[in-house]
Amino acid sequence: MKFSPLFTELFNTLINLIYPPFCLFCEVPLPSNAQLMLCSTCLSLVKIVTEPLCLCCGHPFTKYGGASHLCGTCLSSPPFFDQARALFLYEDPIKTIIHKFKYNDQAAGLKIAPYSMAQCNHLSGLINPDIIIPVPVHKNRLRKRGFNQSVRLAQIFYPTSIHKINTTTLIRAVDSAPQTSLSGMARRTNLKNAFLIRNGDELSAKKIVLVDDVFTTGTTVNECAKLLKKNGAAEVKVLTLARVKD
Ligand SMILES: [Zn+2]
Ligand SMILES: [Zn+2]
Repeated sequence: MKFSPLFTELFNTLINLIYPPFCLFCEVPLPSNAQLMLCSTCLSLVKIVTEPLCLCCGHPFTKYGGASHLCGTCLSSPPFFDQARALFLYEDPIKTIIHKFKYNDQAAGLKIAPYSMAQCNHLSGLINPDIIIPVPVHKNRLRKRGFNQSVRLAQIFYPTSIHKINTTTLIRAVDSAPQTSLSGMARRTNLKNAFLIRNGDELSAKKIVLVDDVFTTGTTVNECAKLLKKNGAAEVKVLTLARVKD
């Protein structure tokens, strides 16, 4: 069944009048026509990633100012991905929004993503990829959660390129422990052989953007990028909703 946009709008207005929306972070009531699901106070706390940042891994140089350049880590041991960019710093209220999205399937807070993308000039290199690959989750976790958060994010980041989203080539073969529970060396060991490629021919000479929710140490996306490059990808860039400020 398909409703007309006018009907949907009227329906939503009515629902908002009966159940006024609440700020997803501090839970104060919002006006019934609220768009971003955050009150103005919480909205002012959101930290958008801005330049200067590392030209490769996207590490923000908030304290130093000046021009973007390569960070020490990318200079001494360049990652397999060509560029990683994030929209927000992984701090509240974004941290709470991501948590509600991943674990309560509450996606309303993500409306802030397209609104903020327009303010991130550093995303210009990720505009027109050939293939968009959401970082896959293992089928066991998919069954438990019901959705892959990275697929939803890819749809939000690239609303006019849904046809480029590929969920069949990069596969999560091992249901490894969540990376957040591990550190350093254990993260790398945990991901050993965690991913595999099916029909790798499709990747040949392609410009790829990998999509994930949070960039922490970059170990997961780097492992994926290594595999994609090994299978012929010309370029692998990474786009995440947030990144941990390290
Ligand atoms: Zn609030
Ligand atoms: Zn870097």
